Amino acid sequence: MDVFTTPDSMRAWSRRHRAAGSTIAVVPTMGALHEGHFGLMAAGRAAADLVIVTIFVNPLQFNETTDFDSYPRPIEDDTRACEAHGADAVYAPTSAIMYPPGFQTHVEPGALADALEGPMRPGHFQGVTTAVTKLFGATVPDVGVFGQKDFQQLAIIRRMVADLNLGVDIIAVPTVREPDGLARSSRNVRLTANDRRAALAVPRSLQAAADVFAAGSRSPSDVRRAAVDVLTAEPAARLEYVEVCDIATLGPLTQIEHGCVVLTAVWFGDVRLIDNRVLTG
Ligand code: AMP
Repeated sequence: MDVFTTPDSMRAWSRRHRAAGSTIAVVPTMGALHEGHFGLMAAGRAAADLVIVTIFVNPLQFNETTDFDSYPRPIEDDTRACEAHGADAVYAPTSAIMYPPGFQTHVEPGALADALEGPMRPGHFQGVTTAVTKLFGATVPDVGVFGQKDFQQLAIIRRMVADLNLGVDIIAVPTVREPDGLARSSRNVRLTANDRRAALAVPRSLQAAADVFAAGSRSPSDVRRAAVDVLTAEPAARLEYVEVCDIATLGPLTQIEHGCVVLTAVWFGDVRLIDNRVLTG
């Protein structure tokens, strides 16, 4: 497995393999790799001949320096894990390489970034779209693999690729969960034992919403209320939002017709977790 830290060396590798007829999937990550990321790698392997994993803790997409500073960075374990999961190359640039002095060009997402995570995390999605565009530029992929865990991010990336004619097929991978239902996240390791138990209220809240929907309700406020009730009953949880949205536009709904997505962000101590569930049928 090859490891690159500069865009020029990464691009040379990709161009060589593309010229030889190989297709390439890229899996953008911030490292601290877990089963969720490994699921993305498997999807990349199924969709293309070669898989590149990018590892970059992107300062542009963090709102708080403490979150950025405390984000886990086990780069040696991550590199080993990429190799064990069949990655063909790792691209792990430094911040100085991604954003050298004089850097001034950003990719600005549109209305999809205005709701949900957008107002809570000013500049976050502009940081994501800018970094992903640069990672695509360095890796020259046919396929980009992203998780449904970050549902709004996935929608914004799809829109960006279409709007900017980037010519990368975007593949979405369903959320990989712990056996007890908590969505895998690099931030889970920062939960205290008590908060780790309390965090199960998040998947339970989404299940409660799904139960109300399955029982026949098509009222967004009833579906939302079911999730809110579970989260507010958990003393360790500090609810930031629960929203019931249109699957394609992420806009608010007055009535659920074909389906919806329930999205939530919840704090446990200083750890912020997000999760979502698509309801259809
Ligand atoms: P991150 O390293 O957290 O920025 O995530 C990198 C990619 O992995 C994103 O496309 C995420 O949506 C995806 N991802 C993170 N956690 C999971 C999970 N539990 N299941 C599926 N994909 C995930």
